[in-house]
Amino acid sequence: MTAAEFAPVFRAFVEANDRFILCGHIRPDGDSIGSCTAMAGLLKSLGKTAEIYYEGDISHYDMIPQPVEMLDPTTIKAACQRPFAWILLDCAQPARTGQGQICAEYCKASICIDHHVNMGEYAEHNWIDPQATSASEMLFRLFKAAGYPIHREQATSLFAGIAFDTGGFRHSSMTPEIYTIAGELSGYGVAITDVMNGIFHTKSMIEQKVLGVILRKAKLYRGCIIVSEVDQADLRQAGGTSDDCEGAVAVLAETREAEASVFLRELSNGQIRVNMRSKQYIDVAEAARAFGGGGHVRAAGCTLDGPMLMAKQQVLTELYKQLREEP
Ligand code: 5GP
Ligand code: MN
Repeated sequence: MTAAEFAPVFRAFVEANDRFILCGHIRPDGDSIGSCTAMAGLLKSLGKTAEIYYEGDISHYDMIPQPVEMLDPTTIKAACQRPFAWILLDCAQPARTGQGQICAEYCKASICIDHHVNMGEYAEHNWIDPQATSASEMLFRLFKAAGYPIHREQATSLFAGIAFDTGGFRHSSMTPEIYTIAGELSGYGVAITDVMNGIFHTKSMIEQKVLGVILRKAKLYRGCIIVSEVDQADLRQAGGTSDDCEGAVAVLAETREAEASVFLRELSNGQIRVNMRSKQYIDVAEAARAFGGGGHVRAAGCTLDGPMLMAKQQVLTELYKQLREEP
């Protein structure tokens, strides 16, 4: 489906409702926050009420403006008691929103706009485009096709979302058209240096220390899969938490020898959160789906039960299956 085909559905949905709750996925990232804030900004400019539900730390993304009230796990249930329409962005499964999934029960209407592969269609109206770099790119196209205006704050959100999901306009998902979209968005007055530095080049001292541990513990398996891990003891020693490892997998992926990169972190509940990246031929989304996770061919994630060693072996075994298929 194209943006032009979805635009009438979207316009009718916006016009038929006054109050909206927007949800992205748990552990919000730049695209999840970018698409939710851009959508909220549009709804607000149209005189509608919108609230965004966040489950997880968003403090790394303070370069993205927050135009509306924010909901969290302590307020989402009460917010669902008044009539609302639900917008699911950058994820297609209600469960991926964490406790936001309660919206599925109470909403009077719903739409989903997402770019992940093979996640199903759970909303009333779904626009899923796995070819898109990001949910933010899809919103840019949709706002234009629907004839809605884009203001500076929304442009900042959309630019940040596209920048995040393309690794700073570098990933293989980039096309000449995406550079053109980024150029057009920048023309709305986006503070590009702040956005790019904020997303990709800003770490706390603790995060730098944790990164040091991660690099020291990195190992190369079968000559092409780099793996590193941190457990709770490592994090305590560095004075950090499992939130202080965002971006670590991207640093591992810089390794020349690595086709695939795997980063495992032990969460405070003992589960192991896994981030995976690949460069040429390994489909990490397929590997992640084997453990109930998902994502994209070149970037995916999943959560496994501990202990660490077992989780690592399970993930490696899954990735090795794809190595054998390579000529
Ligand atoms: P990251 O490694 O940056 O957390 O995620 C990479 C990509 O995979 C993102 O598009 C993210 O939404 C997706 N992803 C990460 N973890 C999961 C997961 O547990 N389930 C699903 N369905 N997608 C995931
Ligand atoms: Mn995304």
